[in-house]
Amino acid sequence: MMVRVRFAPSPTGFLHIGGSRTALFNWLYARSQKGEFILRIEDTDALRSKKEYLDEILTSLTWLGFRWDELYHQSERFALYREYADKLVAAGKAYRAEKLAPEESPDLQTSEAGAKAQPRGTGQAVILKVPQQKAAFDDLIRGPIEFDTAVIKDQVLIKSDGTPTYNFACVIDDALMKITHVIRGDDHISNTPKQILIYEALGLAMPQFAHLPLILAKEGGRLSKRKGATAISEFREAGYLPEALVNFLLLLGWSPGGDREIIGITEAIELFDIRKVNKTAAVLDIGKLNWINNEYLKAADPEKLADQIVPLLAGKQLIDKDNFDRNYVVSLIKLFQARMTFVGDFVERADTFFLQDVPVETKDKEKFLGKDLSKEFGLFLERLARLNNFDPPAIEAEFRALVAELNIQAKELIHPIRVALTGKTVGPGLFEVIAVLGKERTRLRLSKWIKKENG
Ligand code: GLU
Repeated sequence: MMVRVRFAPSPTGFLHIGGSRTALFNWLYARSQKGEFILRIEDTDALRSKKEYLDEILTSLTWLGFRWDELYHQSERFALYREYADKLVAAGKAYRAEKLAPEESPDLQTSEAGAKAQPRGTGQAVILKVPQQKAAFDDLIRGPIEFDTAVIKDQVLIKSDGTPTYNFACVIDDALMKITHVIRGDDHISNTPKQILIYEALGLAMPQFAHLPLILAKEGGRLSKRKGATAISEFREAGYLPEALVNFLLLLGWSPGGDREIIGITEAIELFDIRKVNKTAAVLDIGKLNWINNEYLKAADPEKLADQIVPLLAGKQLIDKDNFDRNYVVSLIKLFQARMTFVGDFVERADTFFLQDVPVETKDKEKFLGKDLSKEFGLFLERLARLNNFDPPAIEAEFRALVAELNIQAKELIHPIRVALTGKTVGPGLFEVIAVLGKERTRLRLSKWIKKENG
């Protein structure tokens, strides 16, 4: 049987770490089983569902690379839910009642969208008679789970405004969409027996269930607005690479084995097994995400990074986006990428490479360029001018020869040259920096610190 899984977000908020981890594990399971990944938008609540949230969810899923094979909106399927509710009433398994259920939403007439999307219905809720029995299932991650349904009250299937409850719409859709595996966060585990009762009442085949472990904040406790519940779009804006974020999400409940933490998606698809997902809660550690992001930045194709970095540089007026030296940008990226945590770090660290006049802070000027180095800089430039191969080893050889000739220590010249060239006291290896700047930029930058003989 073809594996079919679904990710079923409600567009009542942005996509967060927890939701994207659920999406990933569904998508990954589908890909690993050569199955299908269905995206189902659970927008039955017209008052709380917002287009802004839906757009963010779709954009973020796309950015993360989780392509879906089919897309559904529950708001377009209300007639279907009512049809199945009517069948249950006709079979004597459900009844209509005037009484408002506690989870009933307020009068939908107050919302124009709600009034349009959700005809007011009959004014009567449809409620499932819950038999006194046990509901049991074998969770693929957590093993056998049994609930005593004596504690479950009769279940509202359709509210009096005509909208379906989450549990009812979820079951109808999972059944009609031929979902074989329901993979979701374990905050839904108490819904599962209620859903099983609905499957049984309808005589529909049940999928298998897999409840993913909770994600806890590093400070302890559940994720919240203050503790890690950041929208995926914010991670994107902060300069995380999607591959790094996906790798990080993978480790929230799964491990490729051993101490291994860096794993590409293609290999993950081969190794992933839903049955091997941890039962114990995962901990959200942004420090680890930062480490992973740096690992991916180190290994990233500089040309691809350039595509992300060019708009940032243009935004800061460091380059003219229609007229700039792309090779220079790519060479600089190669120089900096190993030490970057975020894509945006590049702009901060390499900004002066794009400026005509390199700004030097007063304290650095005093410390490193307070002494007249005209002679040293001049001799260095003469040596550099003679080089045919302007590469780091050749530049370094000239530098070493010069300090030997002047009988000074390398560091007496290394720091002043770095500050004169870049305006910074730290950075990548100086000889690499000089090679990337090239002869002409190096000459212009050092010449500024050489006093002219005749005034
Ligand atoms: N709309 C539900 C949610 O966002 C879906 C739960 C499920 O996967 O069944 O939590």
